[in-house]
Amino acid sequence: MGGLLSFLTLRRNRRQQRAMHSTHQELLRLNSQLSHLADTDTLTQCPNRRAAYSRLGQELLQLRSYDQYFCVVLLDLDFFKAVNDRHGHDVGDQVLAYFSHTARNTLRASDFLARIGGEEFLLILPETRRAQALPLAQRLLDTIIANPLYLSDKTIPFTFSGGLIEAHKEDDIQHLLQRADRYLYAAKLRGRSQIIDDKAYDKPPSAELKEKQARKTNNNE
Ligand code: GH3
Ligand code: MG
Ligand code: MG
Repeated sequence: MGGLLSFLTLRRNRRQQRAMHSTHQELLRLNSQLSHLADTDTLTQCPNRRAAYSRLGQELLQLRSYDQYFCVVLLDLDFFKAVNDRHGHDVGDQVLAYFSHTARNTLRASDFLARIGGEEFLLILPETRRAQALPLAQRLLDTIIANPLYLSDKTIPFTFSGGLIEAHKEDDIQHLLQRADRYLYAAKLRGRSQIIDDKAYDKPPSAELKEKQARKTNNNE
């Protein structure tokens, strides 16, 4: 009798353990689903701003601790308001999703593209120096220019501008993004559809120099 009782108790305990294990597994699965949702932009399936900041924090730590250099490109689609105005918001959405898809196919698996605003993206290039990063970003721009979005009834060409920087050990996230934003702004000023890095920034094209000088002269008059 005692033997039967302990057999039944053992069996019940095992059943309870199995049930607890499967509840635990389900909780882990739901948890990872939730954190994926919290870190992902629904339209493009890119990591969102939150995820980008977290990744930047990790990369800065790696840079300071292990000299693992990385680059960042702040990207902004050009004249995107005009795309919406001309073709409608839905087509604008399709351009955003198509851009992200094409970029992911063009970039390396280790690169990290996040959507950090409406038509603004942050590309993090881990373990990459500036000299390698520039041709990579340029290849992405060339690919986008060569592959407009084909819809059944129309073709939507589009471009982006980018500000590229290599991270410094002294950078914090805000400073890093400010530096990239300065170059992005220069890329917009210089006619869009281009990537500007520190070298290009320090050597403005002659047309821009002339414009600056003209502005100075006008101000002095
Ligand atoms: P620039 O070349 O100077 O960047 O010009 P722009 O027109 O791209 O810049 P602007 O900031 O004037 O306009 C950005 C537009 O992006 C306006 C906004 O309606 C659109 N936009 C932002 N988020 C979304 C989105 O999720 N879907 C769509 N379809 N449009 C969006
Ligand atoms: Mg824009
Ligand atoms: Mg913008």
